[in-house]
Amino acid sequence: MTEKTLPFTKAQLETIIAKYPTPFHIYDERGILNCARGFLDAFAWNAGFKEYFAIKALPNPFIMKLLHNAGFGIDCSSLAELEIANMTGLSGEEIMFTANDTPASEFQRAKELGAIINFDDISHIAYMERNCGLPDLISFRYNPGPLKEGNMIIGNPEEAKYGFTREQMLEGYKLLKQKGIKRFGIHTMVASNELSPDYFVETAAIIFELIVEIHRKTGVRFEFANLGGGIGIPYRPDQQAVDMQRVSAGIRKLYDEVIVANGLAPLKLFFEAGRAITGPHGYLVAKVLHIKETYRKYAGLDACMANLMRPALYGAYHHITIPGKEHLPHTVCYDVTGSLCENNDKFAIDRMLPELAEDDIVVIHDTGAHGHSMGFNYNGKLRSAELLLHPDGAVSQIRRAETLDDYFATLDITEL
Ligand SMILES: *Cc1c(COP(=O)(O)O)cnc(C)c1O
Repeated sequence: MTEKTLPFTKAQLETIIAKYPTPFHIYDERGILNCARGFLDAFAWNAGFKEYFAIKALPNPFIMKLLHNAGFGIDCSSLAELEIANMTGLSGEEIMFTANDTPASEFQRAKELGAIINFDDISHIAYMERNCGLPDLISFRYNPGPLKEGNMIIGNPEEAKYGFTREQMLEGYKLLKQKGIKRFGIHTMVASNELSPDYFVETAAIIFELIVEIHRKTGVRFEFANLGGGIGIPYRPDQQAVDMQRVSAGIRKLYDEVIVANGLAPLKLFFEAGRAITGPHGYLVAKVLHIKETYRKYAGLDACMANLMRPALYGAYHHITIPGKEHLPHTVCYDVTGSLCENNDKFAIDRMLPELAEDDIVVIHDTGAHGHSMGFNYNGKLRSAELLLHPDGAVSQIRRAETLDDYFATLDITEL
């Protein structure tokens, strides 16, 4: 069970809304930093352990700065994300570049910044060499194919577009050695929003065994193993957060049995989690615009799927709290909708809530990752502001809401 609480009171929220109109996403700094520290603490036994925050989950440099101060690196997969790293003051091996179907310009920029480059395909070795030369330290993304089950968001590894096959891993590292590369890493990421701690231990087992095999067959010695992201969060109250202490203990045992026993220590362990760090600490705050009763009951909000796409995209559950009505009986069944001209623009379907009225504040939980960042402008909807709630209760606006001028900025209407 996970209790779905809010880091602010209704009165606090009303004060915030008086200054920053709904809808907006608000992130809880204390929650994010506690989570970040817990993550690092769980792996303190591994010298050189690093968590590279997957910036696509919450691409805001103010958040990245907080995490960088806490000791995190950044995981990037596009040019814009590399620029966020740069503007936030991250450089060199604090940056992991894990892209796929990557253009040369992005390899070039990642190399300029001194990022660790993680290839998604064996053909990228020749592609990068030809276009901008190879960096000193290279890692490959492994796709275990039939050896591992994936899950709903990322799909089955065999059908997923990511990574090298086992044979390509061996061939690729051999090739790098021939080219004089001396520093190596290895990466895998086969699940998304996975809640089973054992899943991550099993992933480590697959990677550690592969490290031993590659070492035996090619002589390559690895500096790090990047176990990817994909750590799930309890979107539903009946789910349980992944116990990172347990994940860590399981991985530590394998590390001793496989890595240390084969003389391959030290090996730095990396993660590139996004969702697990910020996801539970973000909230989309909206208001009820209209209550509508036809064949069903609808509560229409002033936010829409352009602010939070996960329910429409994955059928994902996001918990909803009505501040001030938490303790009233949840006796009315609503579809909670946005205003897009798309019938899947629903934050919740058949959700039991207290009786709602126009102007009620609606808080949608767990929007701190893959929330605002998935926003889009379809139907002329504008992306909302992002706010940061500091531990002392003060609030900063860390991104303003888009305006119509932003929306039209790419048109030259003088040519009309
Ligand atoms: C999306 C992604 C992540 C982060 O995933 P989370 O589910 O947010 O932890 C990490 N690495 C890669 C390569 C990704 O594509």
